[in-house]
Amino acid sequence: MYTTAVSRFPDVRFMISAAAPAQFPEDAGVEVAFAGRSNAGKSSAINAITQRRALARTSKTPGRTQLLNFFELGAGRRIVDLPGYGYADVPDRERRKWAPLIDSLRPRDSLRGLFLIVDSRRGLSSADEELISWAQGMPVHVLLAKADKLNRKEGAEVLRAASRVIASVQLFSAHAGTGVDEAQRVLQSWLADS
Ligand code: GDP
Repeated sequence: MYTTAVSRFPDVRFMISAAAPAQFPEDAGVEVAFAGRSNAGKSSAINAITQRRALARTSKTPGRTQLLNFFELGAGRRIVDLPGYGYADVPDRERRKWAPLIDSLRPRDSLRGLFLIVDSRRGLSSADEELISWAQGMPVHVLLAKADKLNRKEGAEVLRAASRVIASVQLFSAHAGTGVDEAQRVLQSWLADS
C-alpha cells in the first residue's frame, strides 16, 4: 500500500516507554515528536511513515498510553510518540498526567520538530493549538489525517483553514497512502539536520 521499493527507514526499532525524564534516551542525535488527540490517526501515521505495520502499536499497550514512546529510525535518529490527548470531557485530567513529562522533553537539544496529527474531519482543536504553542521556536508540521474520508472540495477547505494557523500542513491518509511521501520527506529533512 504505502511501501516503496527502498525503505527510507530500514532500521526502525522500539527503544523505550518513558514514564519519567530519567528514562529518556541520552540527549544526543536528533528526534522528532509526534502528537495528536486520541484517535486522530497518530499510530497509523507513524506506521505508514516508517513503513511498519504495527510499530506504534507498542504505544497502545495498556499502561503505555500515558508514556513517551521512543523509536529509533537509524543511529541517533528518533521519533518520540507523545501520549494522545483527550476527548472533550476530560481535557484537564488528561493534560495533568502528561503535561509535566512532555514539558521536560521540550528543552532537549536533540528535539528538532513536532508532527501534529489532526483528524481532518475535526480540524485543529484548542488542545492542538496548545501543542503548537508548546513547540514554539521549532518547526511544526500538521498532518490532516484520514483525508480519505473527505471529498476533494472538503479536503481543500480543511487544508485552507489549517493553513491560516500553521504554514506547514498537508492532507494525509494512512489507509489510502495519500501524502505519505511528503510526510516522509519532511521527517527526513528534519532528522538529517544535525
Ligand atoms: P491514534 O489513537 O491517534 O493513534 O489513532 P489510530 O491510528 O489508532 O487510528 C484511530 C482510528 O482511526 C482507527 O480506527 C483507524 O483505523 C482509523 N484511521 C487511522 N488512519 C486512518 C486513515 O487514514 N483513514 C481512515 N479512514 N481511518 C483511519
